[in-house]
Amino acid sequence: MFGWTGVFLNVDLNRNKAVAESYDHSMALNFIGGRGFAAKILWDSLMPGLDPFSPENKLIFAAGPLTGFGLPNSGKLVVAAKSPLTGGYGDGNIGTWAAVQMRKAGYDAVIIEGKAETPVVLHIKNDVAEFIDAKDFWGLTSFETEAQLKAIYERTAGIVSIGPAGENLVKFATVVSQEGRAGGRPGMGAVMGSKNLKAMVFDGNNEIPAAYPKDMKELSAAGYREVMTKPNYAFWKRQGTMSTVEWSQENSALPTFNFREGVFDKADKIGGFAMEKIKVGNRGCPQCNMTCGNVVKDSDRKEAEIDYENIVMLGSNIGLGNLKQVAALNRVADELGLDTISLGNVLGFAMETSQNRRIPEEIQWGKFKETKALINDIAYRQGFGDVLAEGVQAAAAKIGHGSADWAMHVKGLEISAYDCHAAPAMALSYATSSIGAHHKDAWVISWEVQFGRESYAEEKINKVIEMQRLRGGVFESLTVCRFPYAELGFELEWYTKYLHAATGRELPFNTLIYAADKILNLIRAFWIREYANNWTREMDSPPIRWFKEPLTEGPLKGSMLDPMKYNNMLKKYYKKRGWDARGIPKKTTLKKLGLSDVAKQLGEYVKLTE
Ligand code: SF4
Repeated sequence: MFGWTGVFLNVDLNRNKAVAESYDHSMALNFIGGRGFAAKILWDSLMPGLDPFSPENKLIFAAGPLTGFGLPNSGKLVVAAKSPLTGGYGDGNIGTWAAVQMRKAGYDAVIIEGKAETPVVLHIKNDVAEFIDAKDFWGLTSFETEAQLKAIYERTAGIVSIGPAGENLVKFATVVSQEGRAGGRPGMGAVMGSKNLKAMVFDGNNEIPAAYPKDMKELSAAGYREVMTKPNYAFWKRQGTMSTVEWSQENSALPTFNFREGVFDKADKIGGFAMEKIKVGNRGCPQCNMTCGNVVKDSDRKEAEIDYENIVMLGSNIGLGNLKQVAALNRVADELGLDTISLGNVLGFAMETSQNRRIPEEIQWGKFKETKALINDIAYRQGFGDVLAEGVQAAAAKIGHGSADWAMHVKGLEISAYDCHAAPAMALSYATSSIGAHHKDAWVISWEVQFGRESYAEEKINKVIEMQRLRGGVFESLTVCRFPYAELGFELEWYTKYLHAATGRELPFNTLIYAADKILNLIRAFWIREYANNWTREMDSPPIRWFKEPLTEGPLKGSMLDPMKYNNMLKKYYKKRGWDARGIPKKTTLKKLGLSDVAKQLGEYVKLTE
């Protein structure tokens, strides 16, 4: 097999054993890699109803067939497991040398099950896996862990680790790499912590088999050159995603005061141009010449890597308008291994419930020092931090007194940084994303603004589905970054050329989209199997606030979502997807996608429509 290594590494932490296993062509062609592999493995091997923190849960690191070849923006992997935050399928991608080194070590995926008796670091070098006592690492931040491991292992090694948040099973703990590249929002860091796995060190020096190595080399060089010719390239290098702060402000989409508003009076203080004044450099994922991580000196005089999502969620969403301080909160969150998007949500929620006197704690908007202390409490589960460590949905359930109206999540995963009072398509995208509210699958809001904000037209449903297939299905399974395509207009044909050179196969986009649909339906089936008869179409609804409380400021003052129109949109979305009125894939849909076995199994948990 070319392109894929054709090998998974199965690691059993109960027995300190790692066994390499070949898989066959059909797995590669049907599920591509990354998210596709993770979804298939989790569907096949997890018992429904399993406690996500039980040793039987599987933590999967999976890459795609282009990773490791030195192609632009391809140094990524997906980390996945059953989520402790949502109870459904959970994953996230990380740009890390660990992805490149895992493939060079000979593996397309490493699948971890069991629980080590005492904390361990897993070192994988080609076909040797070592389980190293991690008692000296337990308790360290993710930055400290990586620095110490780097001093011990090969300079080329790729490392992923968890911070104290993962160790303490904070439900939105992430897996961190390279001081600021983090992934696995729905608690993948907590699953890693539940296994007593502090870090993984990957090192490999095998050749990844390419069908046409010479073509690969030429295409790689040409791809990098092409990226640099794009008109937006120079500005992207200056600001990366940070220019979106100004864009969101202009378009009333900037989460402010826990998504109560879409504009922030200090937006210019935390935006792209303010960032340029304190910027000291760029960082990025391996094998990328777009390097979108903006490095700034924060208010603690330390270097922090920032982007749009974390600056907004720890800035305007909690009423903090000092960029250096926002950057410091972001760095602390990365060190502790907390997801910054979910963190900004739980903090905003805590501030609002405090302001409305639903909790006895005094938690004020925009207070830097106090917020930093609260972040620490969350990571170490101290005091009220322990309540917030469960995520916003569980915190609201515990607090009660109507606080659920301010809990901004879908299926338990906190909303990322776009306010949708006047963005029905983006709201639909959040509501139907594969992992709960997240923007990576179908980021349609910029298109939606041009199309017409308040419309619920069919084109919007089509756009959401198109982007879910492309970004959530194809890109997440190839484990390539979406930004060259989404931000610079890097043409999709490049990926089919890359795939041909890597695998020797013609894999046109319609083939990839078919695989994407298969993967997205399998993930949907996973959710339905977990929730069975408790599954309702309300789980595909955006937060109630966007239907109940109109914006009170900015050019779109008075706007909010219309529940009837949204429901109608969702109904049509289901129909286009081949799902029934409950949002459950029909038997015929699954069969058409080659998932008859899935239909059979799913039918044991819920009644399927023909
Ligand atoms: S553009 Fe940013 S996220 Fe994408 S690969 Fe490059 S550094 Fe990573």
